[in-house]
Amino acid sequence: MIVTRFAPSPTGRLHLGHAYSAILNHDLAKAHHGRFLLRIEDIDTGRCRPEYEDAILEDLAWLGLSWEEPVLRQSERLPAYRQAIDDLVARGLVYRCFLTRKEVAESLSAPHGAPEGVFSGAPLPAAEEAARLKRGDAYAWRLSQDAAAEALGEEYSSLAFPLWEGEGIVSMPADPQRHGDVVLARKDTGTSYHLCATLDDADQGVTHIVRGEDLAFAAGLHRLLLALFGRPCPVYRHHRLVTDEAGRRFAKRDRSVTLRALRESGVTPDRIRARLGLEETPAPPPGDGPPAGG
Ligand code: GLU
Repeated sequence: MIVTRFAPSPTGRLHLGHAYSAILNHDLAKAHHGRFLLRIEDIDTGRCRPEYEDAILEDLAWLGLSWEEPVLRQSERLPAYRQAIDDLVARGLVYRCFLTRKEVAESLSAPHGAPEGVFSGAPLPAAEEAARLKRGDAYAWRLSQDAAAEALGEEYSSLAFPLWEGEGIVSMPADPQRHGDVVLARKDTGTSYHLCATLDDADQGVTHIVRGEDLAFAAGLHRLLLALFGRPCPVYRHHRLVTDEAGRRFAKRDRSVTLRALRESGVTPDRIRARLGLEETPAPPPGDGPPAGG
């Protein structure tokens, strides 16, 4: 059974780009006897607002979409994320990083072994770390690519994920090294998009992750996290980004194309589907479903 999801962050009003992603996921599941889930990605409490969450539900319902209840809110899953971080800590797969943004930026321009622009660090010596903890210095938890490579052995360099392209599925190398020692628990939120989204998709049994090509880079990293957590890997599909007449991507600051503005100006959901080229029932995903893995 196909399980898809739309996972907006309530940091602004939805626009045409969101509508495209939501309708694609919704129609794919509904047309092929699957399940369509809505997930509210609201861990960044500094940027998320409850009124935007209400607006998301209102806009999606207006588009004619329906989703399973209850809606999962990431802010209600903090203990699950904490547990996952604790597990990574216990397995030595993450290390504390006390660096400021500026220091990280500086280290990226300094020559070191990792590919350009990719952060590669190491835990502090124990005494120094203890002193900084005693001082109450804030830290992030970073994934250690070296530790991940050691934990996964040969699997690490051959990791791949199924990518649905056109009408077929190709095996894409995950190339985990390319992501460097990425932050899995931020100083401020204690968690991160990559960790939460990956865990939620696995726990919710999402089989097909259909999202914008701006997030294509994340699939390889998510594949690595799934392997570390011993969870199966879904199929990924990266859709085009919707642009205006001048070829510019829509952003949350573009008031004119929010779904609410369009609705208030008399545009109908059918017109929106037509504008997005989403009038036809989508073809089923290729293959017999996602390959097992993890
Ligand atoms: N919450 C993310 C966003 O609004 C979506 C992440 C995802 O689909 O994995 O961009």
